[in-house]
Formats: sequence, structure tokens, C-alpha cells
Amino acid sequence: MNREDIADEKLLPPPEYHEAWFAIPEIVKLGDPILRQVAAPITKINSETREIVEFMIETLEKARGLGLAAPQIGVSQRLFVYRVGEETQVVINPQILGMKGEQIGIEGCLSIPGLLGDVPRANELRLKGFDARGRPFVRKATELEARVIQHEYDHLDGVLFFDKVIPETLDWGNLDEDEDEEEEKEPEKPRHSHRRRRK
Ligand SMILES: [Zn+2]
Repeated sequence: MNREDIADEKLLPPPEYHEAWFAIPEIVKLGDPILRQVAAPITKINSETREIVEFMIETLEKARGLGLAAPQIGVSQRLFVYRVGEETQVVINPQILGMKGEQIGIEGCLSIPGLLGDVPRANELRLKGFDARGRPFVRKATELEARVIQHEYDHLDGVLFFDKVIPETLDWGNLDEDEDEEEEKEPEKPRHSHRRRRK
């Protein structure tokens, strides 16, 4: 896409995406102003926080995504969950420290189902935050995990992946592709080539 076509109000889903777009109504979609707000720090981690976390984990599983930030369920608080590998990680009041290196990879977003594009990100970082019980942690992350963390962290500042995308790589993906490519975000291979070949 051209840079001037990349704006919230211009990125409306093509008709064939409408079903996917509304398949999981719990997830806030592009156009909702909450996605552009800077989320507030969580001052107290309590049972209400844990309820939000539980709902987010359920919703992430339902959507079969890699990560979900609280604004995406309509809660403007600094909290996200992600799953790269075995366990789902909960990150409250995250801070990203010491970003290093560069990677470029394809991303999508559960709030903009179907839209995909290549985004440059740091390849390595340290993540500081609190878990659902309020225990502080620092964790090192690289590659896909580092990418997911940066994507989710951006949501807390009202930033969406297409704000940082390489414009010419941004496009609506192919709906007919195999279901087993279940990662809504960051599939292994770019899908653009398939789409172009199909026509
Ligand atoms: Zn997202």
C-alpha cells in the first residue's frame, strides 16, 4: 500500500473479511478510539485485575493469537498477555529495557483481522513487569517473543503495527489459506506471494 492509504479510517476490511472481522466480538476492532489511547498504569493488582487477566487469556486462546493487550478487550490499562511456546505470560505495567539488534517479520493484529505486513523490530530486549500475583520479574526475550512483546507493548501506547509497517508490504492476507496456519499474528511465511499468484 501507499503510505497515504495507511490510516485508521482507510483500512476498512474488504467485504470478504467481514465474517472474520466480527467472529470474536470480545475483541475491539480498528476504529474504536480505545485502541489509540495511552493506557493507564495499574495501581493495584487485585482480584479485579485477575478477572481481566483470565478473560484475556480465554479470549487469546479463542482467537488463537500470540498476544492480546488490555485495550483490545476495551480496558485501557497497562497489561498484556502473550503466548510464544508452552505457557501464557501475563505482563502488568511492562517496561522494555535494552532493545538490541533488528529483525523484520510479518505481523497481523487481532483487532484488524486479515491485515498483514512486515514490521522492523528490535531482535532482543529485556522485559520488566509484574505477574498476575503482583510479583516483579525481568525476562530476556529474543526473535518472535521479542516481536510479540513489542507489538503488545505498543498497544498500551495507542500504537498499531501498521504505524511502523514497511508500507509496500501491507496488504489483506489470503482467507483461503490452510487453517493449520493458526497464528493470527506472525505466521512463519509471508502470505503475500500466495495471494499474488492466485490472481
Ligand atoms: Zn495487535
